[in-house]
This record gives sequence, C-alpha cells and structure tokens, in this order.
Amino acid sequence: MNFFISVIGALLGILLAIGIVVFIIYCKLRSMVGPTNMKILKNAISNIKDLEREEYSREKNVKGMTKLLEEEILRDFPDFNTELIFSMCETNLRKILNAIEAQDDSKIKNDSNFIYLKKKISEQIEDMKSNQITEKYDNVEFYRHAISAYTKKNGRATIQISSTLSYYYSTNRKDKKAFSDIKKQTRYTSEFVYVYDETKFYEKQVSFSVHCPNCGAPLRKLNSNFCEYCSTYIEKINLKIWKMSSYKEDYK
Ligand SMILES: [Zn+2]
Repeated sequence: MNFFISVIGALLGILLAIGIVVFIIYCKLRSMVGPTNMKILKNAISNIKDLEREEYSREKNVKGMTKLLEEEILRDFPDFNTELIFSMCETNLRKILNAIEAQDDSKIKNDSNFIYLKKKISEQIEDMKSNQITEKYDNVEFYRHAISAYTKKNGRATIQISSTLSYYYSTNRKDKKAFSDIKKQTRYTSEFVYVYDETKFYEKQVSFSVHCPNCGAPLRKLNSNFCEYCSTYIEKINLKIWKMSSYKEDYK
C-alpha cells in the first residue's frame, strides 16, 4: 500500500514539475514577445488551423489536356469514347470507395472491371481489417475529369485520367487528415489499360498483373485456359478492352 502511495506521489510530483516548467516557459515567452505579440502568436497558430481547413475544402483543379490527347488516342483507337471512359472511371472509383468503407471485397472480386485491381483492393481491405482501420466516404460527388497522359508501349496502351471529387471523410488513421464537419475536396489519378499485343505484354509486364482466382499466382499466359501453377480452369479474359489498372488519391 505504501508503495503505491509513493508511486502516485512521485507521479504527481513529476506532473507538477512539468506544469511549472511549462508555466515558466509561457511567462518567459510572454515577457519576451509582450502581451500583444503573444496574442498575435496565438492567432497565428489558430490561423494555421483555419488555413488547413480552407485548403481541405477548396475545390481542386483537374490536371490534363483532354482535347490534345483525345486526338492522339483516336488515331490509334477510332472507336475510343472519352465520355464513356470518364463515366467508367467514376463508377469504378465509387465501387472502390464503397468496398473500402464496407471492408467488403466480394463485389469487386466478381466484377470484370477489376481484373487488374481486385488483388490490390482485397489486400488493402485485409490490411485495414487486421490493423482495425476504418474509413468512411459519404456524399461522394464528382466534378470534372481530364485525360492527363497517354502512352503506347510494350503491347499496351495506357490512359491516365485526373478526376476531381468531394466527400465527407472520416477515419481513425493517423497518417490522413480528416475534418468530419467539412467536405473534403480532392483529386484522384486513375489509369486504364488496353492490351493490344498479348505477346509483348507478357514479356514486359511489370506494374500490374492478372492473377489466378484460385491460387493467386500471376497468370503469364492468358491465351491458355489453365493456371500453370494449380491447373485451375480460367475463362479467357478479353484484354482488348479498356480496364482500370491503378488509382490513387493524388492530393493529400
Ligand atoms: Zn492457380
């Protein structure tokens, strides 16, 4: 019993000492800068908070040059439809945000729009579950989309899309800012891929891949109907179609 009393006594002593030191520093600072400047200093600190909130809720700009790149894409893909790919981008991002909020990847797994992305999304959801992280995205609204890049190499064409949107965001993550009372204005960058030459694509694929639905092994030969690791039957995937291959929030 005596032991606990002395521990509590020591803790109180330490707290008191810290309090006194803080008070002395505050008084020193106050006498150095003067009471008026002290007020300015306090205001400056609260202004930083206001600026953060302002920046958080300021509508962001899309980065892109749609007209110019659209012409280039149409030369290679005469059937290409910009509005269609923008609406696919929006639909996909909504589905992803829903899956992350619900921590449920079942819809993504069975959706052919996510053949390149489902593994990554499932892993992210698993990771959130095991670290007890939650994220909520409410009242998602999209504003504008723009094509920000177009490349064609190694058997595949890639279109990069910049999108602006807003939502009420809340999370228990420490690495992301969240003001639950104001709407977050943000920007995402997504990529869509069209594989026009499967042979070149398999030699050079690096940044993403297609995986066996049974064992998760990367599928190197999509023209074969069986996984080379576990021999599961795989329905032939049509790669000659624009599919989302990556997405990221590019505004923190
Ligand atoms: Zn397999």
